[in-house]
Amino acid sequence: MIDIIGGGLAGVEAARILSRNGFCCRIIEMRPGKMTEAHKSGALAELVCSNSLKSDDPLCNSKGLLKKEMRLLGSLVLEAADECAVPAGLSLNVDRERFSTLITERIAGDPNIEIVREEALSIRTGRTSIIATGPLTSGAMAEYLRSVLRRDAVYFFDAVSIVLEAGSIDKSRCFSGSRYGKGSGNILNMPLDRDEYGLFYNTLVNARTYPLKEFEKNFFEACLPIEVVAKRGFDALTFGTLRPVGFAEYSSVRPFAVVQARPESLLFDAYELIGFQTNLLQSEQARLLSTVPALKNAKFIRYGMMHRNIYIDSPELLNNDLSLKGNEKIYFAGQITGVEGYIESALCGILCGLSLVQKLMGFKDILMPSSRTLSGALLNYITSPQKGFQPMGANYSLLNGGRFARKIRKTRLHDEAIAEMISYIVKLRERGLNI
Ligand SMILES: Cc1cc2nc3c(=O)[nH]c(=O)nc-3n(C[C@H](O)[C@H](O)[C@H](O)COP(=O)(O)OP(=O)(O)OC[C@H]3O[C@@H](n4cnc5c(N)ncnc54)[C@H](O)[C@@H]3O)c2cc1C
Repeated sequence: MIDIIGGGLAGVEAARILSRNGFCCRIIEMRPGKMTEAHKSGALAELVCSNSLKSDDPLCNSKGLLKKEMRLLGSLVLEAADECAVPAGLSLNVDRERFSTLITERIAGDPNIEIVREEALSIRTGRTSIIATGPLTSGAMAEYLRSVLRRDAVYFFDAVSIVLEAGSIDKSRCFSGSRYGKGSGNILNMPLDRDEYGLFYNTLVNARTYPLKEFEKNFFEACLPIEVVAKRGFDALTFGTLRPVGFAEYSSVRPFAVVQARPESLLFDAYELIGFQTNLLQSEQARLLSTVPALKNAKFIRYGMMHRNIYIDSPELLNNDLSLKGNEKIYFAGQITGVEGYIESALCGILCGLSLVQKLMGFKDILMPSSRTLSGALLNYITSPQKGFQPMGANYSLLNGGRFARKIRKTRLHDEAIAEMISYIVKLRERGLNI
């Protein structure tokens, strides 16, 4: 029996791989008895923030390529996501409740998997265990890890976006449609002229925030709070989150800035403001939104917030097969290894499962995907020696793309990655793995 501590995106993927290959495991999940500061339910694989698993375009986007590789590997998370998708252009967005309910049902119905609802305070001695407790690992477990790893787990903070009740948004001040007319057009766009933007900007940069400790100011560059971006200059947001380009087909007058919101569920009863992760006080968030004409009476379902993110020094601590150096019965999976994002965390669970299955089958040389796949490149990133290790999501810079001319680069990287992934799967099947 294998222990998987944490029934999040990584934990369920690892469990499914083990089960499909005939190995029994138990998922130890502390919710709903003990909640994290972001989860809302007891469901496995709950999406704690956005309902978007990002781009599903494998030829143009690294997240799309990663999904294609994961589908080849039999990802449970993507299987469920495909069944619960809500229209979102080229993105794979899901109805979050259906998504986690479906995964919980599939895991609960699997005879090889037991679900135990309790907080793990440590790892059972002698038991093979996967630690997949995520960025919000409970305090007791984090303390335990620090003591056995004999070094500090690293803390830093991300910020999450605002969600609003659909009925509270003044649709007469919005237009629907995706930038450049791409996709299904379910995005709500709220144009601002220069004066309106000026009011919004001044309110934002002068708004009060929750106090941060020094180490909490180490934001992840790809997920900056909106007020941090705004303080970089008056126009900064109009080149990013609020950029006004790509709307020519909806209006002859180019707005100065555009606030965008995407649907949160198939019922279209909630919208998430795109890029509005923030550390503003809740009262200040309400004051800020009241400066946007369409959001004068907006009602919050969730305020933007800061959150804990715990990850370990994987390059120092982990082997390339995700086992712990010096105690190869312990494995790590998910965001706690330093991968960043929903699908990356799920991928890490799959890779951990494949690695452990080979070990349990008696193989000494564990096959992992090559670094020409995006999966393998991300794995290499988190397990290769480096200074100042920082979490990383899937991106093309992990692949060695300089070998190809810029024009054909993405296509060639895509073709190479998929061919490599297929040959990896063939090798695993030759070993007798069920993928
Ligand atoms: C607030 C927040 C917002 C985020 N927003 C996004 C986003 O919008 N898009 C994106 O791509 N990524 C986002 N992430 C990052 C990340 O991709 C997700 O956190 C993802 O869920 C990580 O998957 P995981 O399986 O590693 O961890 P999780 O999905 O968090 O699963 C870990 C599980 O372990 C359980 N657990 C913790 N400690 C214990 C214990 N001691 N015993 C038993 N169970 C325990 C938890 O309850 C949880 O169910 C966000 C992260 C956070 C914290």
